[in-house]
Amino acid sequence: PVDRSPDIQEARLKLPILAEEQVIMEAIRENPVVVLCGETGSGKTTQVPQFLYEAGYGSENDIIGITEPRRVAAITMSQRVAMEMNLPQSVVSYQIRYEGNVSNETKIKFMTDGVLLKEIQRDFLLTRYKVVIIDEAHERSVYTDILIGLLSRIVPLREKKGSPLKLIIMSATLRIEDFTNNKRLFPVPPPVIKVDARQFPVTVHFNKRTPLDDYAGECYRKVCKIHRMLPAGGILIFLTGQAEVHSLCRRLRKTFPFCGRNVHNVTEDDESQEVVRRFKKSKQKKTMNLPKIDLASYSAQPLDEGDEDREAIDDEDGSGSDLDLDLGDGEAEEDEKTDSSLPLYVLPLYSLLAPEKQAKVFRPPPAGTRLCVVATNVAETSLTIPGIKYVMDCGKVKKRYYDKVTGVSSFRVDWTSQASANQRAGRAGRTEPGHCYRLYSSAVFADFEQFSLPEITRRPVEDLVLQMKDLNIEKVVNFPFPTPPPADALIAAEELLISLGALQEPPKTGRLNDLQKAKLSSPITALGKTMASFPVAPRYAKMLALGRQHECLPYVITIVAAMTVRELFEEVDRPAVSEEEKELLKGKKARVQQMQRIWAGQGSAQKLGDLMVMLGAVGACEYAELAPKFCERNGLRFKAMLEIRRLRGQLTTTVNSLCPDIQLYLDSKMSPPTESQVTYLRQIVMSGLGDHIARRIRPEELLDEKWRNAYKTPLLEEPVFIHPTSALFRQLPDFVVYQEIMETTKMYMKGVSAIEAEWIP
Ligand code: ADP
Ligand code: MG
Repeated sequence: PVDRSPDIQEARLKLPILAEEQVIMEAIRENPVVVLCGETGSGKTTQVPQFLYEAGYGSENDIIGITEPRRVAAITMSQRVAMEMNLPQSVVSYQIRYEGNVSNETKIKFMTDGVLLKEIQRDFLLTRYKVVIIDEAHERSVYTDILIGLLSRIVPLREKKGSPLKLIIMSATLRIEDFTNNKRLFPVPPPVIKVDARQFPVTVHFNKRTPLDDYAGECYRKVCKIHRMLPAGGILIFLTGQAEVHSLCRRLRKTFPFCGRNVHNVTEDDESQEVVRRFKKSKQKKTMNLPKIDLASYSAQPLDEGDEDREAIDDEDGSGSDLDLDLGDGEAEEDEKTDSSLPLYVLPLYSLLAPEKQAKVFRPPPAGTRLCVVATNVAETSLTIPGIKYVMDCGKVKKRYYDKVTGVSSFRVDWTSQASANQRAGRAGRTEPGHCYRLYSSAVFADFEQFSLPEITRRPVEDLVLQMKDLNIEKVVNFPFPTPPPADALIAAEELLISLGALQEPPKTGRLNDLQKAKLSSPITALGKTMASFPVAPRYAKMLALGRQHECLPYVITIVAAMTVRELFEEVDRPAVSEEEKELLKGKKARVQQMQRIWAGQGSAQKLGDLMVMLGAVGACEYAELAPKFCERNGLRFKAMLEIRRLRGQLTTTVNSLCPDIQLYLDSKMSPPTESQVTYLRQIVMSGLGDHIARRIRPEELLDEKWRNAYKTPLLEEPVFIHPTSALFRQLPDFVVYQEIMETTKMYMKGVSAIEAEWIP
């Protein structure tokens, strides 16, 4: 029996899904797999786990598991459900990559999809679970897709063992044929239950013309108008990235200050205070330097558990510029004069925002103010913000694109799909009729693709292939993917893994066709098994596996952690909002450059290049006990440094459990590597990045100016370059290895180290 408070009871009864409880529970009782569709806000995430709990699925030792593609959702939803059920977080808990509050009493467990994948690696049948819910399946994150494929096999196996597992797939859109109409996945198509959400009409206003670049400016002007002229009701704005979000927040706060205080500074300060406080607290509890890390919790995901809206620092969005161009639709705002008679309560919302700050959007805004949430596409389906009446949709989304052949990646801001534009519009009609302003024309909308492609078809898959081989799925091509990755991506992945030694080399005899086939079913090697246990991409896992030599491990762990966490350094080249900021940024840039020169080391240490800078930066930061002030002064992103610290802890724990004879511990006073260690480190790095080698074009080879100071790689026709901010920009060594190539204004190598010609096989 669940003891809910009267107001929660009342709020629940308003949710459309409550009317369907019987139907849903009956379908679950009678079918091993059920697909549940319902508009965002209909109550799927918060209510279905409660239905299951009340029907006895969380009794005795059994757990109700629910996966989310985003950390934000796992945390906030577990808190919300615990609150609704009047149960402590030790019963309704969450687990994400580095943290969680799961206990022996946990009955409902929210987790990121990567966490569940790791659990399958340890216990293929997921015996602790009686039911698994895959939430937000429409997002089609890589791990969601893989989990559905694996669960399609686990469910019948559990059936055979006589302890059935129920699988519920929940989706916000009706595009579910990939799951339901897919004989390889589910030979018997699962029933689909649709929940009709009570959705108020939303009037869609298209721009007559589409502002080409300055959609942030157009957005600003429109929000000003709404706020000045239209009736009460929250505003939700969709932009593409963190930098844009902050820039618009700043601008709006300046125009409509709240209580005449500089709200921005206040909130930013208390955010970092909060992080410091939490960090100190976690430190106080332990005598060791590191927060204890639960081995069980690590995720296979190299980056950030599927958060596409994560920021690329070097994307060039000049959205902060205060250009007052008349773009046709938006008449130029007379001025950006401060207007304190109309307070606007402006809140940012994006995945990497601290959970306490994210939670603010759910609370009612202070009396006399209007709520205005400036968000990335996290607000599209994962979170429902109450009281939104106006939606502003820039129509764009930031995605990472990969070249299938070369692996060159770039962040691009591109038009979104019709499905997601409609999702965004729907956010305006949750509590009353609303309005959606699309900052693009109806003709542009008509050209949008209907749905976006699943992530698995858009990115390299070597990490997935290694994880699957580790699960003894030898023929990955036969895996029941909801949407299979392209064949060439699978072949490239297997070839890379063979070259890293993670998979067995196929026999050299036989015709090419046989070789191709043999390659696609290579079993995993012992080295591959070791590599699969590290929660980082295979190339980095290889470095870790070799790192034992010459006591290099602490350095390798640090380098790998720093390479895995994106963007250590703050963007200091960004356009300044004011003269004052301009000066500030200039000073900072000089200081950052000076520090980077110091971290790059002296003599032969310099050959480690950008990786030496990473080592130096992490070392210095640890020495300063991860003080946010230190990061701020030296242009390091505090969040990145914190993440590196956690990942180092996790990698250290993994190493210790793999080789009990080592027993590493994290030393906050890491001395710089010796000269010979630097050489080994360069070789170790090359062993993981062996196919990422570039050779400098010699002056006598220079036929075309565009090749001046350029490098040639085996994969690309075009020249690639060392970025001016790289530690090796002045040295331009003859041979280098690089972490990745990012295409911005040119093809730039990132994370570059010098190697010796004679090392190249
Ligand atoms: P769905 O998963 O179908 O999108 P949810 O279960 O997330 O729907 O949301 C159901 C309702 O619960 C929504 O109206 C939303 O406003 C409310 N809700 C969800 N989380 C919170 C929260 N943290 N605080 C307040 N209300 C919330
Ligand atoms: Mg949901």
